[in-house]
Amino acid sequence: MSLAPSPKPTILVVDDIPDNLHLLTRELTNHGYETRGVLTGAMALTVAQLAKIDLILLDIMLPDMDGYEVCQALKSHSATQAIPVIFVSALDDPFDKVKAFEVGGVDYLSKPVKMVEVIARINTQLSLRHAQQQLQQFNQELEALVQQRTQELAQANQALHAEIQVRQNVEEDLRLSEARYRLIANHMGDLVCLHNHQGEFLYISPSVQTLLGYSPEELQGKNIQDLCHPDDLPCLQLHFQESFQSADSITSAYRLRSQSGRYVWIETLAKSIMDEDSPITGIVTSSRDVTRRIKIERQLRYDALHDALTHLPNRDWLAKRLEMEILQCRRQPGRQFGLLMIDLDRFKAVNDSLGHLIGDKLLIAVAELLKTTVRKVDMVSRWGGDEFVIFLDNVNHIQEVVQVAEVINRALENPLEVDGKIIFTSASIGILIGSATYTNSNEIFRDVDIALYRAKEGGRNRYEIFGMEMYQKALSLLTLENELREAISTEAFTVHYQPIIDLQSDILVGFEALARWQHPQQGLVMPGVFIDLAEDTGLIKPIGKQILYQVCQTIAEWEAQEKLSDRFKVSINVSGQQFRDNRFIQTLDHILAETGAQGCRLKLEITERILLEQSDSIAYTLDAIHQRGITLSIDDFGTGYSSLRYLSQFAVETLKIDRSFVNQMQPERQGIVQAIIDLAHNLAMDCIAEGVETEEQRQQLRQLGCEAAQGYLFAKPLPLDQAVLYLQSARLNTEAPLSSLS
Ligand code: C2E
Ligand code: CA
Ligand code: CA
Repeated sequence: MSLAPSPKPTILVVDDIPDNLHLLTRELTNHGYETRGVLTGAMALTVAQLAKIDLILLDIMLPDMDGYEVCQALKSHSATQAIPVIFVSALDDPFDKVKAFEVGGVDYLSKPVKMVEVIARINTQLSLRHAQQQLQQFNQELEALVQQRTQELAQANQALHAEIQVRQNVEEDLRLSEARYRLIANHMGDLVCLHNHQGEFLYISPSVQTLLGYSPEELQGKNIQDLCHPDDLPCLQLHFQESFQSADSITSAYRLRSQSGRYVWIETLAKSIMDEDSPITGIVTSSRDVTRRIKIERQLRYDALHDALTHLPNRDWLAKRLEMEILQCRRQPGRQFGLLMIDLDRFKAVNDSLGHLIGDKLLIAVAELLKTTVRKVDMVSRWGGDEFVIFLDNVNHIQEVVQVAEVINRALENPLEVDGKIIFTSASIGILIGSATYTNSNEIFRDVDIALYRAKEGGRNRYEIFGMEMYQKALSLLTLENELREAISTEAFTVHYQPIIDLQSDILVGFEALARWQHPQQGLVMPGVFIDLAEDTGLIKPIGKQILYQVCQTIAEWEAQEKLSDRFKVSINVSGQQFRDNRFIQTLDHILAETGAQGCRLKLEITERILLEQSDSIAYTLDAIHQRGITLSIDDFGTGYSSLRYLSQFAVETLKIDRSFVNQMQPERQGIVQAIIDLAHNLAMDCIAEGVETEEQRQQLRQLGCEAAQGYLFAKPLPLDQAVLYLQSARLNTEAPLSSLS
């Protein structure tokens, strides 16, 4: 809606005298109006309908019709009826003012008109018209608004009616259903209760009277926990807690104290009220007496897992416990358990001579005695007949199991008195220490049975341990590993040096460095005892590093003090693990730099397996070794793959012929050694024979063209001080055969 007047109002001037018309329109135009001028009434009506006219100045006397008629016609037409009409009359016109207003005129002017007056009248009418228009528009809008509001109100009213109807229906339904529920609750055998979050009773159905002896009023506001058996309290609390958190109904069973003080087993179905709209929150329970059922169930369960005679756990229970223990052992590395299978010696004789009744009583007495020999966490079970099995929980050492066996054997040395009769008995016992290596209880029973069988075989009243040898071995390996770690930290390794002799000239050409362990109790320990374990545990790397360091130190000292021949080298054994380690070269460089040893004095003995691996890191290591002037020899050649192909790919200087071939080298069986030597020579390598013990072997090797040899014939591996002496005398005696020195 825009109430701003249009910028230029349009005035229609109607006059049959052209001069008047012209004068008036011009004046009006000068005063800022749009003007239209017509000479006849008919034209006036046409223009008023077609153009947008704001006001008409209408002459009375017109040629075709008079002004009243024109005005009447304008007012009778909806498009023009609102246009204000001001009549203009000459003095001599028969002008009827009353009629002018009757036909709808708003004002009149007398000719000759004064322009000031005309403008004033026009402005008045236009303002009036404008105000009327505004009022009209405002009224229309107001009307529309009123209509809209009325409609909205009607709709709201309708909705309200509908809602009231729904509520009434719901209320009716609710009333009906509550009445129904009350009826059901009051007449049902089950106890129905409503509890708040704390467990207090908010509603108790009358059946509580029959079930527990209380009246509903007595319990109102009390807490169910106050009625619960102390042993079942955690179960009850858990039940409530779970029910609150769950959308499902949850069942549980516990004992509640009845009014007489007797406890009643009840089974309860609990459901939380989860309805967000509900004014009540809490938990609805429905309970029934299950005392009889629970008692029967318990009896059945007890019977299924107990021996009827001694009331000890039976074989099934034991099996279950062992299965659980196996799982436990898997979760807890290092966990162990003990098992004793006990068989009474000569029980059959007791049965036969004194009767089954006495036999049974003896078994009961033994069961009682066995129970006194173990802790609460352990389990004495009857296996059947005259056999019992004891399970010992969480055992650290076999000794703990053995102790129990010894206690039992000692206890049985005293005779048992049964029904006034003195009975001597003894037992054979099979012992086992179990761990996660077992996968089921049958395996355990099988093994402990084997031990029991051996104990009986060995002549009764004794015990036998299953797998003791294996156990002892594992134990000593573990001890050895711990000692080895200790040895690494205290640097308890030394090096012995075995001379390597040139077979043609008998000149010393080098030493093989061999590790020795200076054990605090056992003295010098040979590598055969610890190298394998060191490999398995990865400890070979730190050990190898220490040996390498010592050897390089020795080389540097010799270099400084002795006159070494150009060929002289010290061979050192390098394990695959060391060689594969990508920090090996770094370690090697570090040791060479720190000790000042020269790489060309070092020969690394590796096994052929390493070369077969063909990995990038091995290739890198081989290359780096070569660059440092260090040479390689293949140790124990012939015992492994002996693949010829790889040998030619790498710059290996020496093949070492394994002692086992040198050993078997009778004159008629030289074939293998000959083949190895030929192969080496074809590949431009030399050979060192290991383990040469006899003069005969030396002669044969020399004849076969083997370059060098080591072995007891020349010298055993020597401690450092003796190796130094050997080196010095070798230099002094380059002319004399060295073998005479060893
Ligand atoms: P190997 O490399 O074959 O060393 C030769 C073995 O033969 C040495 O045993 C040596 O004492 C022995 N031997 C030498 N001459 C004779 C002989 O005429 N007759 C007999 N019967 N034996 C002889 P050892 O010192 O007990 O070393 C055993 C093995 O332990 C070595 O075999 C080697 O594989 C390994 N080993 C020794 N030291 C090291 C080391 O520092 N690092 C690594 N990774 N392994 C080493
Ligand atoms: Ca060697
Ligand atoms: Ca060897």
